[in-house]
Amino acid sequence: MASLKTDVVVLGAGIVGVAAALHLQARGRAVALVDRAATAASETSFGNAGIVQSEAVFPYTFPRAPAEIARAALGLDPRVHIRYASLPAIAPWLWRYFLASSPRGRLATAMAMRGLVQRSVAEHSALAEAAGAQSLLRGGGWIKAYRTRRGEDLALKDMEETRPFDIPSVALDRNQMLALEPHLGEVARGGVHFTDPLSASDPAALTQAYARLFVARGGHYLIGDALTLRQSGGDWALDSVEGPLRAGAAVVALGPWSKELVDAFGYRIPLGVKRGYHMHYAPKGNAVLNRPVLDLERGYLLAPMTRGLRLTSGAEFARRDDPPSSVHIDLLEPSAREMFPLAERRDAVPWLGKRPCLPDMLPVIGPAPRHKGLWFDFGHQHLGLTLGPVSGLLLAQMMSGETPFADPAPFRADRF
Ligand SMILES: Cc1cc2nc3c(=O)[nH]c(=O)nc-3n(C[C@H](O)[C@H](O)[C@H](O)COP(=O)(O)OP(=O)(O)OC[C@H]3O[C@@H](n4cnc5c(N)ncnc54)[C@H](O)[C@@H]3O)c2cc1C
Repeated sequence: MASLKTDVVVLGAGIVGVAAALHLQARGRAVALVDRAATAASETSFGNAGIVQSEAVFPYTFPRAPAEIARAALGLDPRVHIRYASLPAIAPWLWRYFLASSPRGRLATAMAMRGLVQRSVAEHSALAEAAGAQSLLRGGGWIKAYRTRRGEDLALKDMEETRPFDIPSVALDRNQMLALEPHLGEVARGGVHFTDPLSASDPAALTQAYARLFVARGGHYLIGDALTLRQSGGDWALDSVEGPLRAGAAVVALGPWSKELVDAFGYRIPLGVKRGYHMHYAPKGNAVLNRPVLDLERGYLLAPMTRGLRLTSGAEFARRDDPPSSVHIDLLEPSAREMFPLAERRDAVPWLGKRPCLPDMLPVIGPAPRHKGLWFDFGHQHLGLTLGPVSGLLLAQMMSGETPFADPAPFRADRF
């Protein structure tokens, strides 16, 4: 088989890899996108909640208040689910997450995240237009709904915290919320409406539309195992089903599987996962949901999707490759039925995704410190759909020697 030669090989065809490939291609690079699956977005980018969260400057942090930690540890907080048998294996990562979740760490993450998330809507809109996929993205923002006085205080406190970051949001009482979402249940007392975010009616279809754009523009999509990546002369070499591939540069965008590859090159980057599930439901009668709604105190989200109403769970703390379980969805479903009139389930079993997370909840974007031509773009935590296109832009600018639109220092691989 003849060897294929290209400028850059991007490893991983989730939203992060696909978007990076498009931004490199836009700079005149010949790009190959390699994934072990025949279709883009077959893993974490397949089943997320679909929100382009332009408001998400503050990360989800490890709780610091002892009472909150105790509630989560005892399984009394529906926002998290812990696989106790896996705790010894994941405890070192959780400890680092706890340490990075100090008020100072949280603010540092927000300052770094600001430039990225605020550009996310513009970058998605441009890609969706070029891909002819505008119909998969809707405006109208999303709503953080609360049930109790305590929830209201929390929601308004969060809203206040985002004020210095110029994030448009509106506090809604129950009647104002019902004007936007008439079918929400009586448990919903009010909410905060983030008005600017977009949301996808099918996040996998959106990423696949971006991947088709990449191919239409002359890019190669190849099936191959990223773990065959090796240095060869001054190049990078890889085995694909279409034969050997050589490239001047390689980008690791393998989401939660990036760890194996960077470990193999001697980098000790503390990449963990926060797992999450989804389940689709039919609406009851003529009930309609116009935009995603988060049930703040119960920690799940309901999003209108092509396939039905998608319930997505918060974080499950387990080993990446532990078998899936239906426990978290089963636990959340009664709360979701109080929030919105849901009829029957539409999936036989819950879908499981694995959010790739670094302890400081910032992705790694930039050069590998000790290997020329090797670049990293992974660890996009709860926000990979949001950040894929913007981090692809930042990476492509760095790889092309352009002035990056945001300071890349907080995303360095050697920050740990
Ligand atoms: C329940 C849930 C809800 C979420 N909601 C949102 C949301 O509303 N908004 C948002 O912005 N984000 C959300 N996220 C997060 C988002 O889905 C992820 O951050 C994002 O999908 C990560 O994308 P990725 O491209 O880095 O990884 P992935 O999509 O996992 O892509 C990695 C790719 O690498 C490939 N791969 C792995 N190993 C190999 C190998 N050895 N060789 C070749 N290929 C390989 C895989 O096949 C896969 O295609 C949510 C996540 C979950 C789980």
